[in-house]
Amino acid sequence: MPRGADWIQGHVAEFDPHDNSVTLTDSRKLEYEYLVVATGLQIKWDNVKGLSAALGDGRVVSNMSYATAPLTFQALQELRSGHALFTMPKGVVKCPGAGHKVCYIAEDYLRREGRRGHVSVTLAMAADRMFGIPRYSQTIEGLVKERDINVKLTTNLVEIRGDKQEAVFEQLDQSGQVVGHQAMQYDFLHVTPPQGPLDVVAHSPIANKEGWVETDPETLQHTRYANVFGIGDCAAVPTSKTAAAAGAQFLVLRDNLDALMAGRASDDARYDGYSSCPLVTKKGACMMMEFGYDGKIMETFTPLGIVDQQKEEPLMWFVKKDVLPWAYWNFMSKGYVPWSECKNIIKRMTAVTDAPAAVKSTR
Ligand SMILES: Cc1cc2nc3c(=O)[nH]c(=O)nc-3n(C[C@H](O)[C@H](O)[C@H](O)COP(=O)(O)OP(=O)(O)OC[C@H]3O[C@@H](n4cnc5c(N)ncnc54)[C@H](O)[C@@H]3O)c2cc1C
Repeated sequence: MPRGADWIQGHVAEFDPHDNSVTLTDSRKLEYEYLVVATGLQIKWDNVKGLSAALGDGRVVSNMSYATAPLTFQALQELRSGHALFTMPKGVVKCPGAGHKVCYIAEDYLRREGRRGHVSVTLAMAADRMFGIPRYSQTIEGLVKERDINVKLTTNLVEIRGDKQEAVFEQLDQSGQVVGHQAMQYDFLHVTPPQGPLDVVAHSPIANKEGWVETDPETLQHTRYANVFGIGDCAAVPTSKTAAAAGAQFLVLRDNLDALMAGRASDDARYDGYSSCPLVTKKGACMMMEFGYDGKIMETFTPLGIVDQQKEEPLMWFVKKDVLPWAYWNFMSKGYVPWSECKNIIKRMTAVTDAPAAVKSTR
């Protein structure tokens, strides 16, 4: 905890922005002058019938929670032959690359262990394309072809019959309508479950129609309650929900909140949707995707001529595996976001003037 901050350990049960207060589940009421909401999102385990019961049975796993993530590698180590199936749901998810990378890392592991010839690999996705950004989608399409990963698009997991090792999918058309169903057998099943806003936010006055905190996508200030800000996965900003995005948002929120507290109408810090997804594709390789609103490419390293971020790169693997965790624990968790600050400096050094800076920081 930063010096000067009190850590109140409790769960918010109710937001009351008219009264400038929140109420905790133990009925304590906390009043505020300014509120920053950073409550993340909800994993909707129960939206896939049979998932909760099957999770942890040694075959059905998910990296999407702290409790279940360690089971993935255990199950993979046990897998000698058969069918490894990976799923990605409809709608918003945290880290759009998470469901991809677990598949590619697992496939690489099986290959390196000499078991790939005995295990077929399928990635079943509700989306109608591999990735929302064509520059990166192209690389992923090449990768799955080269590594013989069977991809099923518009295929949405709805049920797991754990006793039969059977996963049931809705078949969607291009507009997302259900046009049929199909079942697949599995020996290993990694599920990225459906996700959505937390009920406590969605059912509160601070939510927008979809249930996210109704923040202005550029200032991160609430559009109806000026002393409320939203950041991270809970915020209604139309970009990919990642820790990298939350980091970039933090600099903007900090400056705009500072301005408000100092009595200035608002600072001119603006968030441009920056998000990053380090897509580990195998041991020793990672494609570092960086983009902003409307899919604008916002790469840090490509303009420097060090790497091509559209490709799988060993240097980006090192950044993902060693640099980012170090930066997270030593900087981000203490309120510093060195990569976003560095990015601004690099931008100035390389005189890239056609794009707005990822963020404008006044410090
Ligand atoms: C498998 C996986 C891989 C990922 N890989 C990457 C990656 O490579 N790069 C990247 O940038 N991002 C990645 N992400 C996404 C990243 O983890 C999230 O986007 C990020 O953690 C969002 O941060 P947040 O603070 O908004 O939400 P969270 O980290 O979810 O934190 C929300 C906090 O709010 C608390 N909370 C919830 N409800 C309440 C309440 N009612 N009252 C009080 N507190 C509450 C929670 O306990 C939690 O501490 C990955 C995610 C997953 C699951």
